[in-house]
Amino acid sequence: MTNWNLARFVIGAAGACLIGVISPVCFWNLAAVAQTGQAIFVSYPRTGSVIDSRSTFITGAAPPGAAVTCNSEPVRTNSAGFFAHVVKLKRGENSFSLAAGSLTTVISVRRPAAVVPVAASVLRIKPGSLEPSENVGVVAGDIVRFAAKACPGASLQVKLGNRTIPLYSAAQRAKGSRINLGLDTAFGVAYQKGEVTAPDLYLGFYKVGCDDSFSGVKAVFTAVKEKKSVSATAPGGLTVMKQPAIYHTRHNDTIIRVGPGQARITPWVEGVRVTSDGYKGAWRRLEVASGKHLWALGEDLAPELPGSPPPESRVSTVNLLSDDYGAKIGVPLCQRLPYQVEQDLKSGTLVLKIFTATADTDFVTADIEEGQIHPADRASSRLIDYVTWKQKTDGLYELTVHLKKKHQWGFFVDYQDSTLMLHVKSTPLVSSAGTLKGVTICVDPGHGGREPGASGCNGTREAVVNLAIAEKLKAELERLGARVVMTRTADVDVSLAQRVQIAIAAKADFLISVHNNSLPDGRDPWKEHGTSSYWYHPQSIEAAKILKDGLSKDTGLRDFGSRYQNLFLCRPSQMPAVLVEVGFMIHPDEFLQLITPEFQSRVAASLAEGLRSYLTEVPAN
Ligand SMILES: [Zn+2]
Repeated sequence: MTNWNLARFVIGAAGACLIGVISPVCFWNLAAVAQTGQAIFVSYPRTGSVIDSRSTFITGAAPPGAAVTCNSEPVRTNSAGFFAHVVKLKRGENSFSLAAGSLTTVISVRRPAAVVPVAASVLRIKPGSLEPSENVGVVAGDIVRFAAKACPGASLQVKLGNRTIPLYSAAQRAKGSRINLGLDTAFGVAYQKGEVTAPDLYLGFYKVGCDDSFSGVKAVFTAVKEKKSVSATAPGGLTVMKQPAIYHTRHNDTIIRVGPGQARITPWVEGVRVTSDGYKGAWRRLEVASGKHLWALGEDLAPELPGSPPPESRVSTVNLLSDDYGAKIGVPLCQRLPYQVEQDLKSGTLVLKIFTATADTDFVTADIEEGQIHPADRASSRLIDYVTWKQKTDGLYELTVHLKKKHQWGFFVDYQDSTLMLHVKSTPLVSSAGTLKGVTICVDPGHGGREPGASGCNGTREAVVNLAIAEKLKAELERLGARVVMTRTADVDVSLAQRVQIAIAAKADFLISVHNNSLPDGRDPWKEHGTSSYWYHPQSIEAAKILKDGLSKDTGLRDFGSRYQNLFLCRPSQMPAVLVEVGFMIHPDEFLQLITPEFQSRVAASLAEGLRSYLTEVPAN
């Protein structure tokens, strides 16, 4: 289950929600009815739901052995009577009549009408279509996009203060000037949504000049056709920021992104000072080095008084220290500055970028702490070969930590006062060969409580299946000598942040999150299925592959791949973290296996053996 569109996923899919959104769909507890074999149970979709997709799938359970039909077409079922059936959806109401012998049930699903373009016959600018739709703060050189939907064949322009900006529709743009609508992705495959060819969409762009001084100026759109005109004002005002603003982060785990609402790149701790030179709605643009921008939510940032000194520091020394976690690289600064860490397994390095910092580094103390020469068994000596630095660009200081071993077991950054600390985890120490004695593993059964996850063919919730497998995995790991910490042991709510905190607080050497999969609408449960695993930091790639390969081999489940995914439970950097999607809740045969205790035991034994081999055999590298 990868990066498909969140909105479509939450509205339409069979209830799986890795991202932690409480799914409004598809589970209601009729499992008891289905299990008596006296009814046709439909697990997905719920009758009356709205699905904006060309097709969906109906999953459910009928009495075992019964021939099931949907609108008179045969439905593929398995020995338990579990079924999955792909149906096309037309615009408007769709009714599906399921029959098994004398049993029948009808479900109806509505697919919304297509968006109708603005008619060419009436001179009109469509309300709610104007961009900028929210307040925008810019500096000279920024490009602002203007958009409006209006009747085709009109001449459109924007008045922005005393500037006039022309807008063009697809028909009016120069031939070959293509603008794409963007991408949709699922399971790592990107689908071009198509070109901007809507006849009623007009676009225009303006590069802010040095002499522009807009302050909350709203763009006024005018459409002219056949000597008549109509005007409308954009909701968002445009402001040119003459002076940057200084902010600091309000709390730990402030999420820093590459664009407003776009991919996250790093968390920052509390008190990191940063310059802002723009905004878009609730988002603040942060200038961390010359021409290098990052974004954060304004509510995560506290403004400082006008005239506050800009963030900056010299880096004069770097200290290599050790503690229970492993090695720590201390960089004394004048204040807390923005940072980012890049992990590279091939070169065996961690690259620490410190923004708005300038090198004055003459001394890297690799072996002295409080006047004493480090003993060779210190973590810093065991883990770190040497450290190099460079001034990458103005305002970007880069420290490269060259590790002795290519395999990495965890890292994180924090500040002690204004000294930045990059922590590097020690290799897990197994006290008895071939066992997991001395190792701590955090096992996370996905979902629970008000968040049921995906719904299986007979209505069994993913949260229940995940917990059953996780409990068996705990027993297997303990049998191998590991200390196991569970994020939940009952069907209760535990937030994603709490789950990660449990793993960090337990000083876990590994975090495994157990899930079972589902698909968004528009896909075929019979075609896309199998076992898969997900990682976020490079340090987790090898474990994700080992666990998935073992599971596929030991259970016979189809190999559905191992891949990067931006998942909360994969994001902690303090230890390798892998999310396993054992099988598919909506695949009738896989689901039947997943609810069978013997099969769950086989899954648990396979995962435990995968973890044993990873944690005991990989450290030698
Ligand atoms: Zn899940």
